[in-house]
Amino acid sequence: MTQVISTISQPEAGTSMGAELIKKGELVAFPTETVYGLGANGLNADAVEKIFIAKGRPNDNPLILHVAKKSDVKRLWAHVPKIANVLMDTFWPGPLTLIFNRADCVPNAVTAGLDTVAVRMPQDKTARMLIQKSDVPIAAPSANLSGKPSPTTARHVLEDMDGRIPLILDGGACKYGVESTVLSLVGKPTILRPGAVTREMLEAVIGQVELAGSILSPLKEREVALSPGMKYKHYAPTAQVIVVCGEPRLVAKRILELYMQTTIKGEVCEIAATKQTQNFYRGKQYSVMGDRDDPMTLCSNLFALLRDMDTRCDVILAEGVDTSGSGLAFMNRLLRAAGFSVEYI
Ligand code: AMP
Ligand code: MG
Repeated sequence: MTQVISTISQPEAGTSMGAELIKKGELVAFPTETVYGLGANGLNADAVEKIFIAKGRPNDNPLILHVAKKSDVKRLWAHVPKIANVLMDTFWPGPLTLIFNRADCVPNAVTAGLDTVAVRMPQDKTARMLIQKSDVPIAAPSANLSGKPSPTTARHVLEDMDGRIPLILDGGACKYGVESTVLSLVGKPTILRPGAVTREMLEAVIGQVELAGSILSPLKEREVALSPGMKYKHYAPTAQVIVVCGEPRLVAKRILELYMQTTIKGEVCEIAATKQTQNFYRGKQYSVMGDRDDPMTLCSNLFALLRDMDTRCDVILAEGVDTSGSGLAFMNRLLRAAGFSVEYI
């Protein structure tokens, strides 16, 4: 049985119980401002191994270590490069993960054998309280079964993890709803995964930032070593997802055509619309993801909506949006959910 404790009503009791379990080498799911994490003592290889088993996660996909204060990176990295100090001072605590050369104390289970390690200091108070009380860096991937959409509420975690882990801390819905930006500082600063800290925000602080080639396209063989997480099918509901990109009115027109074609075949279809286009879909089955002019609203609803729609339909027809700002994080997740089934019109 998996116990769920609200850290909104019981922050001290919940995080103390969580920290006891972490210290004993057990797993605890906890809220962060990005998505829910599935945490273990990041310096204990046996505890970290349990994460891979609970999630069904491939062993060659490394984990992020979560710390409660900036100075903790000193013992996790070989040294702290200057650029990391600037980034930590600007964006930590927050949804930015930094990758640099690992120190010897970091187990291979965390880095999947790579000589780098990913570290982040979360903003969420519950997460930080749990890490502080545990007194170790907490290794935590998203708390979903591998391949499923990431959980943005404790209910999503319970759907995937019931009976597999002893405790879920329920801190309500996550603020951003999309995983952290992953930035490698080995060589030229390179975004391996886009998130709420955008390329534009990073460039305003450190100058030019590269984008890994896999962000909006399937991972090529030669890129696998750089960004192992991106090679897997990700964020995918059981329903088929088809994305249509282009000028919003044309997108809506094409989605209506596809809706008719799919419905005629007897498949249940639902449209993932935006605020700007919802009126085109009156009388059809649709949900509004958010506002095209504020892509963080799209990010924060996407995973919850995919899980929800998956209970109702066979085919999800989703609108693509512009990839500037946080639109890049949204499109990165949506295209992976669709297995890159996308039409540009
Ligand atoms: P998740 O914890 O499920 O959000 O996944 C963590 C993401 O960070 C995955 O996409 C990993 O591939 C990536 N990651 C973690 N550590 C490293 C690393 N050392 N090098 C490259 N990517 C990493
Ligand atoms: Mg994940």
